[in-house]
Amino acid sequence: MTKIGLLLACAFIFGAVIGSFLNVCIYRIPAGLSIVRPASRCPKCLEPIRWYHNIPILSWVLLKGRCAYCEVPVSIRYPLVEALTGILFTLFLYRFAFNPVTLVFWLLCATLVVISFIDLDHQIIPDVISLPGIPIGFLCSFAVPWVSWQSSLLGILAGGGVLLVIALGYELLAKREGMGLGDVKLLAMLCAFLGVRAVFPIIFLGSVLGTLVGVPLMLLKKSDGKLAIPFGPFLAAGALIYGFFIQFWDPLMRWYGVALMDIWRSIFS
Ligand SMILES: [Zn+2]
Repeated sequence: MTKIGLLLACAFIFGAVIGSFLNVCIYRIPAGLSIVRPASRCPKCLEPIRWYHNIPILSWVLLKGRCAYCEVPVSIRYPLVEALTGILFTLFLYRFAFNPVTLVFWLLCATLVVISFIDLDHQIIPDVISLPGIPIGFLCSFAVPWVSWQSSLLGILAGGGVLLVIALGYELLAKREGMGLGDVKLLAMLCAFLGVRAVFPIIFLGSVLGTLVGVPLMLLKKSDGKLAIPFGPFLAAGALIYGFFIQFWDPLMRWYGVALMDIWRSIFS
């Protein structure tokens, strides 16, 4: 195996181990439980999970998705969260190499995995994650070369403000809550990390992804169009895609601007 391959493999394993801890956070934070104590137990037989039954992904496969003691089925989501975190860590190490910005994105990935799965389960984004995430994102922005601290501060205001206006406007018009205030705080947090220039790309990518996933789901479920699909996971994915492809965004926008100008000219000249 080449040196790079070995490093990427290490990043995957490290990510999977972190993912194992994120599973605990996803389960315990909405229930208001401590994420450090007690050690993990089987929810059915209450037998503590031994370390050799807690190896990310592998243990689930070897135990065929069952508790080692009472054989109650263990959800496939546990190894999937571990694999997802491992893949994200590998991708960002590959993208930014050994650089402080990689650590920032690992922190952001881990936070967003927890937020996304809690949002999927409970349709909430816990304040205990998103609110401290705002000052933490501001501090982390010093390690992100293309985000100045001014941009981070503006991002918090704009990210929070833009969605707040949309959320309140929708509520006023539709007389029901379309987008939770949790999404507003999440976008403020994301833009604390990624700067004010990320506000539009994140909302744009989040909406596109949300539509691509949401519309087929609505058709499948034949719902009345009021199917509540949480927006948080799509904002999270949008932020990570934007960060990963950061160098393509400005040329793309320039190209888009030029293309619009061309259409404009061809119509009015
Ligand atoms: Zn058990």
